[in-house]
Amino acid sequence: MRAVLLGPPGSGKGTQGQKLADQLRAPRIATGDIIRDHIARRTAFGLKVEERIAAGDYAPDEDIIHLVSLRLAQPDATQGYVLDGFPRNLNQARLFDATGGADAPAVDVVIALEIDETVLIERTAGRLVCPKCASVYQMHLQPPKQAGRCDRDGETLVRRPEDDPGTMPHRLDVYHQSTLPLTQYYAQQGKLRPVDASGSPDEVFQRILFALKDR
Ligand SMILES: [Zn+2]
Repeated sequence: MRAVLLGPPGSGKGTQGQKLADQLRAPRIATGDIIRDHIARRTAFGLKVEERIAAGDYAPDEDIIHLVSLRLAQPDATQGYVLDGFPRNLNQARLFDATGGADAPAVDVVIALEIDETVLIERTAGRLVCPKCASVYQMHLQPPKQAGRCDRDGETLVRRPEDDPGTMPHRLDVYHQSTLPLTQYYAQQGKLRPVDASGSPDEVFQRILFALKDR
């Protein structure tokens, strides 16, 4: 199954994407992780997009398509994948669809996580990440065992610049502007499955599995 997971920042998309990937025995391919890796390694692409990402904006479409195509060419992605953070907008979705064929479309199903904005702002404001292993914590819902330290390697946890509460209204604007045409596009193809993303990660995942049954 070739699945796309859509959801605003703070909707639990990363967690659900990993659960779904495990269930489908397919890789979770998160463009955010790929981009952050480039920034950390200070590649030409990383240096180019660093400021835009920190401000809550997106990397250019053509760069993203290129990165995703390289990743999907890896052997683990031939039987299916869970895309997280891609496509971001209608242009990317159209370009991506053009890479698939009639018997192997680029996308089979699109899960759209839906959640109230005040909850999103609370969740992202409390989010902390490990700069070493990329583990994600949430101060209230999923705190580390020792305050401010990664459970896996003891590294000091940090807040991503784009998770600053001051950046969130802009991030949500960017998300809604680019995602609404995207959901309409996939709805017209009959591939869109909206899922309520409130509640615990397990509750949300059960809803995702239920939504995938009727396809
Ligand atoms: Zn860590």
